[in-house]
Amino acid sequence: MTQHTTTVAGVEVDTRHWIGGARVASAETFADLSPIDGATLGEIARGGAAEAEAAVAAAEAAFPAWAATPRAERARILHAIADGVEKRIEDLAKVETLDNGALLRSHRRGVMPRVAHNFRFFADWLLTLGHEDFDTRGHTNQVSWDPAGPCVLITPWNAPLMLATWKVAPALAAGNTVILKPAEWSPLTASLLADIAAEAGLPAGVLNVVQGYGAEVGNALVSHPGVRRISFTGSVPTAKRIAAAAAANLTPLSLELGGKSPLLVFADADLDLAADLAVEQYDNAGQVCLAATRLLVESSVAEEFTRRFVERAEALVQGDSRDGASDLGPNIHPRQLEKIDGFVRRALDGGARAVIGGGPNTDLGGLYYRPTLLTGVAQDSEIVQEEVFGPVLTLQTFDTEAEAVELANDTRFGLAATLATGDPECAERVSAQLVAGTVWVNCFFVRDLQAPFGGSRHSGVGREGGTWSFDFYCDVKNTVTAPKGWKDHG
Ligand code: NAD
Repeated sequence: MTQHTTTVAGVEVDTRHWIGGARVASAETFADLSPIDGATLGEIARGGAAEAEAAVAAAEAAFPAWAATPRAERARILHAIADGVEKRIEDLAKVETLDNGALLRSHRRGVMPRVAHNFRFFADWLLTLGHEDFDTRGHTNQVSWDPAGPCVLITPWNAPLMLATWKVAPALAAGNTVILKPAEWSPLTASLLADIAAEAGLPAGVLNVVQGYGAEVGNALVSHPGVRRISFTGSVPTAKRIAAAAAANLTPLSLELGGKSPLLVFADADLDLAADLAVEQYDNAGQVCLAATRLLVESSVAEEFTRRFVERAEALVQGDSRDGASDLGPNIHPRQLEKIDGFVRRALDGGARAVIGGGPNTDLGGLYYRPTLLTGVAQDSEIVQEEVFGPVLTLQTFDTEAEAVELANDTRFGLAATLATGDPECAERVSAQLVAGTVWVNCFFVRDLQAPFGGSRHSGVGREGGTWSFDFYCDVKNTVTAPKGWKDHG
């Protein structure tokens, strides 16, 4: 008989879908493996077209009542979900660590509290979302944000619950119903979120969680004509498939995709700060969409910068993500490790030099890749142009500000850029010329949820955060009312 739950780090997790307020099994399952030691964490329900159909039907059925629920009540339930997340931070952190291999200490201190914040922030923002009124020749215009309907949310494995709740929270706050499909390499915390939401009193069918492979249940969901919004975070090739499926129904899309972001280090920068910022790019074993993987350093300070960078990078501790001393855990999957190593091998074969790293960490075995810095790389080479999604940075030099900007922008991506400079005017001039959704000056990763987040070019379509999320998840409507007795139809 198939088991319907699994116990991970002492926490019971249901391995079935959550559809219409009930647990639903599938005839087939897939194995979920831990990147830390390869252990099987559970056999997860493998959804297909039937489960997608059932989830959309449940979301459609629940939509009218949820959309009509007063904003204050929706906000109250979202705060109750945040309370539930806060009560279970330790459970969520332990399960996610085993599931995707990111550091337990970051899950405890940063990621899971932020998950709760995602719900609180969008609950509160909903209450401030204004109705704009203005006058046109005596007529009033009233702008309103109406919920759109069932939303399909498809998310990646590198920060599973954090990225999922960036979408779930505003979609629900806006009055929509949701079908969340987490990545098949990290399915567990989405299942726990379903439990938490149910306990918080979210009505049946408002949040549905469907498990399975992208090409199967994912494709069925994004192709469904009953879906009113698709929000996707993941890779460019998948985004193209989803956009093609969505085109058949003209379903509006939000796409948060990959990057190949630069870190520009100018000669007047605080080089210790610049080296700290550069080493931070190895966080989550390099599996961060925003990571500034291209270090662009002014020639006159390149040697000294490299010295300080290497000193810090060599002090990083690589090991089991549950160990508080570890700075870098494993990569997610054998296929990902192979992909990372393939990029590095081809770069080395093409003449690049590994200043540090350059291969898997054979002392540890498993899925650990050594933090790597490559020099001697050509601007048009694969390693400079393609997203590796592992702990691999390249270093190139520049001599002028114009050259720095040219190198930074010479990519098909446009997610983020980081500048290290002591000159505020240089920062202003350069950031104005960069193609990027976010520019950080002498800092990295700081983000307020009311700020727009997203990418240009192949890094995405649309923005998430604050008003931008509500604009996406709502049908914005303008109601024009004539003054009493008005006769002119011109
Ligand atoms: P991926 O594209 O392989 O998968 C993402 C999700 O899409 C998974 O849930 C997968 O099952 C699903 N999927 C796959 N094929 C599908 C299909 N045909 N129809 C519907 N769904 C489908 O990406 P990944 O490897 O999980 O994530 C890594 C990528 O995500 C990197 O490129 C990274 O830069 C990007 N990312 C971007 C951001 C951002 O905010 N811009 C954040 C995190 C990760």
